[in-house]
Amino acid sequence: MNEFQQRSAELNDLLCVMNILTWDARTQMPGGGSTARAQQLATLSALARERLTDPAFEAAARAAQQEAADDLQGRAAAQALDAVGAMRRVPEELTRELTLLKSEAQDAWATAKANNDFGAFAPALTRMVELNRQLADALGYEDHPYDALLNTYEPGLTVKTLLPLFERLRAHHLPLLRAIQAKQEPRTDFLTRFYPADAQKAFSLAAARRFGYDTGRGRLDQSAHPFEISFTRQDVRITTRFQEHFLPGALFGTLHETGHAMYEQGVDPAISRTVLTSDLLGLYAVGGASYGTHESQSRLWENRIGRSAAYWKLHYPELQAAFPEPLGDVDEQSFVRAVNRVATSLIRVEADELTYDLHIMLRVDLEMRLISGELSVQDLPAAWNARIREDLGLEVPDDAHGVLQDIHWSAGMFGSFPTYTIGNVMASQFFEAARQAIPELHAQLGRGEYAPLLGWLTENVYRHGRAYTPHELLVRTTGEGLNPQPYLDYLTEKYTGLYGLERQEHPAAHKENA
Ligand code: ZN
Repeated sequence: MNEFQQRSAELNDLLCVMNILTWDARTQMPGGGSTARAQQLATLSALARERLTDPAFEAAARAAQQEAADDLQGRAAAQALDAVGAMRRVPEELTRELTLLKSEAQDAWATAKANNDFGAFAPALTRMVELNRQLADALGYEDHPYDALLNTYEPGLTVKTLLPLFERLRAHHLPLLRAIQAKQEPRTDFLTRFYPADAQKAFSLAAARRFGYDTGRGRLDQSAHPFEISFTRQDVRITTRFQEHFLPGALFGTLHETGHAMYEQGVDPAISRTVLTSDLLGLYAVGGASYGTHESQSRLWENRIGRSAAYWKLHYPELQAAFPEPLGDVDEQSFVRAVNRVATSLIRVEADELTYDLHIMLRVDLEMRLISGELSVQDLPAAWNARIREDLGLEVPDDAHGVLQDIHWSAGMFGSFPTYTIGNVMASQFFEAARQAIPELHAQLGRGEYAPLLGWLTENVYRHGRAYTPHELLVRTTGEGLNPQPYLDYLTEKYTGLYGLERQEHPAAHKENA
């Protein structure tokens, strides 16, 4: 047991150091450092792999499994053995080829996107699909090759569970979107007025602290693409991008990353530097149970709290005081309507809460068919454009605004897209469970008291790190597995109020709980 713990701690140290190098590369490093940094990360990742597949680590994990004094120790040992097994099943040659292809494909993608030339990316993407199919075969699956890839992000989730869930969301979202589109658009012109970056940073950081982000164990920096990253629970960093002519980006982006960060800061100190805060297969130090579980917390704090009318009823005067010029003539209600506006868009990262899921479901449908071989890379752009037309009623003018917009496929991240929508679904399930457990919750939130909610989430979700699968966490806290109903109810109620919809305009609202 001692040797297992010692070796696990060293592995976690290596992964945390890799995270620090990644954080630095994205926030501080001059452009000239990129080649050397890639080499440093490759060296460390090879070292981590070596230590993970070292027979001595496996032997220690087996011994620890026998000796395990409690459930957590047993889970850590079992997870280590699972990761070792999975890594051994993937041929070294395939790992090497994938690593090389990822950097090649990302270059090809960036050029193709800049020149709006899908053909320049197609060969790399075709190879990427092939290698991911091989990866799925090596990892193993029961029903669908996509399950194997999905499981690297969302342990235990399968196509069999995912597809009916997505069908229900689509059947709900599309009629709700049509009903909203028939109503008058809220004004949003004031969101693109001039908002000085310094004042944005001060307000965002204060809002993050108010939620409970501990800046004694964290910090906020700037980067081109906002993210959260941790090097144990004692150092959890977030970044934001400040755009002086678009207020919501940094404001809600910071609340989003704050949700991720509070999850990491809330991990039980007892499982710090263990397997239960290490994604051993992904070689990434992280305390959250899965990508979807992590996303549930960023979205809970950003959307369920940060975009709510109750939040702004309390905090809008402070925002107005921070930005007297651009917001002087804007009342609280107009602001809430503007930051919750639903508008179809070609671009996923610009999408609102409702249409975002439609963007995700499109990508998941296409990548599943790419992996199963039902769809060829050559036919991908046309399939993309047809689905955008069908769901959003928009014409894709060129591939840069269509199939080439996301980095994910060039980075080989097949199976990661579903986790965004799974996060939305789980966020509402956790929020409902908290509401039932804390009768005073609504009143507390109305007074700006976030500690009781954070405390409940820490106790029921955050402190466990990766000890439980997402399904186990849901069952422990809500008594059931994935259930989209609380999320659908939340969206229906929210947009009915904001857009003054008639109750019967969205039939899904009265659907039985299933
Ligand atoms: Zn996120």
